Amino acid sequence: MKTKFEKVALPYATDALEPVMSKRTIEFHYGKHHQAYVDNLNRLAAGTKFENADLITVVKESDGAIFNNAGQVYNHDLFFTSFKKGGGGEPTGALAKAIKEQFGSFEQFKEQFNAAGVALFGSGWVWLAKDANGKLSIEKEGGAGNPITKGLTPILGFDVWEHAYYLDFQNRRGDHLKELWNIIDWETIGKRYA
Ligand code: MN
Repeated sequence: MKTKFEKVALPYATDALEPVMSKRTIEFHYGKHHQAYVDNLNRLAAGTKFENADLITVVKESDGAIFNNAGQVYNHDLFFTSFKKGGGGEPTGALAKAIKEQFGSFEQFKEQFNAAGVALFGSGWVWLAKDANGKLSIEKEGGAGNPITKGLTPILGFDVWEHAYYLDFQNRRGDHLKELWNIIDWETIGKRYA
């Protein structure tokens, strides 16, 4: 029996992603914001049919406050496991091929992805997702939204809530999104596509 929802362990030190993502941003974003979603979910799910459900089931089947917090736990687990010290570069293998087929080139994909993130009004997420046939798409979602609720599989998500970048970039969301590509762990992202 599952006891509690928990957040994913960080696969790197809190200062490993500097200067793109500062230790202070990780301490607040992972340490406080992500933790608050976990704590809220545990409190809200207690005594409901979701109390012992796995996280993806909660994301698929809940709504309202439970969905908002479950979605954010899932989204941040995926987000914080997308980076590594000395990351960046380009994807390889099947994911590289699919990106080229869908977007023309890796550069064009990044441009479209960044543009979607900048254009998203308010708080939310920009996603790279795949469908059942492996076809890729860029999805914009407000709030805690993610591609799972559309029957798609999330491959990569950038958090465009201000709490993700305000300490390091203030209002410059576009600059933050451009820098994130320099810390991506493409080996991990590639496994999500495979
Ligand atoms: Mn966040």
